[in-house]
Amino acid sequence: DFRSPLASVILAAKALLKRGESADPRRVNEYLTIIVDQANKLSHLAEDTLSIAKMESGQLSYFFKVVNIERLIKDAAALVSFSRRHTLEYTVDSGVSYIKGDQTKLRQVVQNLLSNAVKYSPKGGHISVRAENYATDQLLVSVTDEGIGIPEDQIDKLFQKFSRIDTTEAREIKGSGLGLWICKEIVKSHGGRIWVESDLGKGSTFKFTLKKGHQE
Ligand code: ADP
Repeated sequence: DFRSPLASVILAAKALLKRGESADPRRVNEYLTIIVDQANKLSHLAEDTLSIAKMESGQLSYFFKVVNIERLIKDAAALVSFSRRHTLEYTVDSGVSYIKGDQTKLRQVVQNLLSNAVKYSPKGGHISVRAENYATDQLLVSVTDEGIGIPEDQIDKLFQKFSRIDTTEAREIKGSGLGLWICKEIVKSHGGRIWVESDLGKGSTFKFTLKKGHQE
């Protein structure tokens, strides 16, 4: 997983170096975009790997503070590389504003779900994020895509470590099967739960709950 984005960064950087000052500005832009996108992927992977190592050794520390949900969604979206084929919209219902949680880790959850929404809708489509009130003391965050979807008989194993969907379409898309496991662990540590509703070939909605005002 680390090798392929790293190889792309090296190739693009070498191509830029070789062309030097005579390079066509459009090509320069293309190569720089590759470098930024792939470096983002690497940083995402490094963050996931670090989280897993710490989770496994029970050393992952949570720092709870007041988190603005809208800010969190915006910050997470800014870290995801959306392609031109995708459109993004987010809605934060009135009355949903702050919760107590670990800002960095919750951002990682939304970022992982958004990255998956992009990755598993290769033909593009609309992606939406919504934060709404749920029950009396919880809020619900959902990330919806119009992607390849998930077969019903494989939904149960999705949040397990290294679990990947076994369909022709899903196998063509590279991944480690770790992101959703990390999301589940983080959401659990906030007293919430995470699940998915999906229609094969039509899209998926990943949902997680957070307790309002929850503090460790
Ligand atoms: P990765 O994407 O690295 O394989 P994840 O743990 O994030 O790992 O996801 C596990 C599996 O769940 C993926 O391999 C993919 O098959 C499936 N999956 C995750 N998100 C989506 C989505 N939005 N649409 C369809 N399938 C998904």
